[in-house]
Amino acid sequence: MDNLTSPRVVKSILDKHGFHFTKSLGQNFLIDDNILKKIVEAANLSKDDRVLEIGPGIGTLTRELGTLAHKVVAVEIDQRLIPILKETLAGFDNVSVIQGDILKIDLVELVHNSFDGKPFKVVANLPYYITTPIIMGILERGLPFESITVLIQKEVAQRMVASPGSKEYGALSVAVQYYTIPRSVAKVPASVFMPPPKVDSMIVTMERRKEPPVFVEDRKLFFDVVHASFAKRRKTLLNNLISAKEILEGWTRQEIEELLWECGIDPQRRGETLNVEEFASISNSILYKKKSKL
Ligand code: SAM
Repeated sequence: MDNLTSPRVVKSILDKHGFHFTKSLGQNFLIDDNILKKIVEAANLSKDDRVLEIGPGIGTLTRELGTLAHKVVAVEIDQRLIPILKETLAGFDNVSVIQGDILKIDLVELVHNSFDGKPFKVVANLPYYITTPIIMGILERGLPFESITVLIQKEVAQRMVASPGSKEYGALSVAVQYYTIPRSVAKVPASVFMPPPKVDSMIVTMERRKEPPVFVEDRKLFFDVVHASFAKRRKTLLNNLISAKEILEGWTRQEIEELLWECGIDPQRRGETLNVEEFASISNSILYKKKSKL
């Protein structure tokens, strides 16, 4: 079997099919065996595992997944890669490729049809231009994922694992850390891709939490508060919440200030200093106050 991490082999496959990279689809194919091994090692796969891969490219990672896991479903947007994948994945009876846009596909249906609704792992070298919507889409849909192991842009990885008070900490950090325990596994240089992207990358693995780390009465309200608190990073928490009319319609400045003090939070703090517990406390208090106002 051809070694798909060999640049020479990749080039000859692409040439044979007259394939040219489309930059806007984030097509940077992995050409490093060591990094490939690190991704699958971090994903900790066994022969019982079902795996969803996003963006198989020419099937480099897909073949490793197919060897290690029970079943692999890979979603690839680029039609031109489908005939290539047919060739490179020939003989992998446990691997199927779905042509489509991961942001448009009904993932609940996919998990139901392909995995019988059973737990699955996500493993991917993601297209960088849509890393955040892909991850958020998986986290927020209530899918039975066990873990997400991805190779992504370093800056996004740093935001996922960031702690309160750091400049990388934001809505993405809170969402990822609410649903999972993220861990950065390894830094990855641009030279391991064909063509090399302009940024460095990182392997991150996110282990699903069995229970959320805090009690949140209304999850949508919680995330609305999180987004509102980070809306303008230079503004205070109070001013960001005052601007969040969709959450606090009809509330006076004084009422919001009082609510924050009741939660033990100084209204002059900035959103990026709040931890998950504090966001939960604010959103739960807003809900109770709203109910008592009725
Ligand atoms: N897995 C391959 C590898 O490691 O060499 C390719 C990774 S490449 C960074 C990203 C892949 O995602 C490309 O094959 C690209 O065509 C595909 N892709 C881009 N946007 C997509 C989308 N919206 N849905 C599904 N696949 C997408």
